[in-house]
Amino acid sequence: MTDEMTAAPALAGKVVLITGSTSGIGLGMADAFARAGAAVMLHGLGDADEIEKRRNHIAVTHGVEVTYNGADARDGAAMEALVGVTVKRLGGLDILINNAGVQHVTPIENFSAERWHAIQDILLNASFYTIRAAVPAMRARGWGRIIQIASAHGLVASPFKAAYVAAKHAQVGLTKTVALELAETGITCNAICPGYVRTPLVEGQIRDQAKSHGISEEQVIRDVLLASQPTKRFVEVAEIAALAIFLCGESARSITGTAIPIDGGWTAQ
Ligand code: NAD
Repeated sequence: MTDEMTAAPALAGKVVLITGSTSGIGLGMADAFARAGAAVMLHGLGDADEIEKRRNHIAVTHGVEVTYNGADARDGAAMEALVGVTVKRLGGLDILINNAGVQHVTPIENFSAERWHAIQDILLNASFYTIRAAVPAMRARGWGRIIQIASAHGLVASPFKAAYVAAKHAQVGLTKTVALELAETGITCNAICPGYVRTPLVEGQIRDQAKSHGISEEQVIRDVLLASQPTKRFVEVAEIAALAIFLCGESARSITGTAIPIDGGWTAQ
């Protein structure tokens, strides 16, 4: 048997909390982290039976502990409590990935204050609450990884996405500040900034934009979404998961305070 075959998976013994992991990028990362040996706290909204099926499938497939919590990301106290629940249920928290997200596409003058605040709560404020709650235990262990799934929209803007673009830019600012505060503690904090990934969040935009522009879904994909993505293909969930796992390794211990684009060249333009 080769060393590779006998070696423990890269993240064996680690515990990861991934917010918004009942769907899309978060669900893909949950599967990848479980494959890498980590115990996983799944989190997010959705149909209870469907979530239980997904939880069980990941646990059985990879032979790790996977548990679920449905805290509403709009509720700061609930997100703070989610960190405590993770530590209690899984015995610690080594890796925190803030990924929960929603989108809303409307011109600024029609943007409702309610939507604005909900998006800030889910994308930005929830990150503040989970990070603040997670740091003491990571600091005590002298090791931790904090990853924000921001967006290319954390680095550049597009029209009609005021709340999302503002919150994603703020998430990048939060990432840099936390990284500096924790630089000597063994904890890193980074943002991953994906371009378009074909998840339920983007499927919704494709449908809405086709309707509002009066064009086909294929035209929205080619002329609206992938117009800004030079590779002209969607980023794959597996590519984001692989980057997140790399950031959790020892060889990434000097990478902190970064906002890493994985966007097919979008932000190089
Ligand atoms: P998705 O819609 O497939 O998943 C979103 C997740 O967030 C789900 O698990 C959902 O239940 C959870 N969520 C939403 N509102 C919540 C709430 N109030 N309380 C608890 N959970 C809530 O979307 P996705 O595309 O996988 O997006 C994941 C992250 O990646 C988001 O932060 C998004 O902004 C970011 N992102 C996505 C893309 C893309 O093209 N899909 C690109 C860049 C960044």
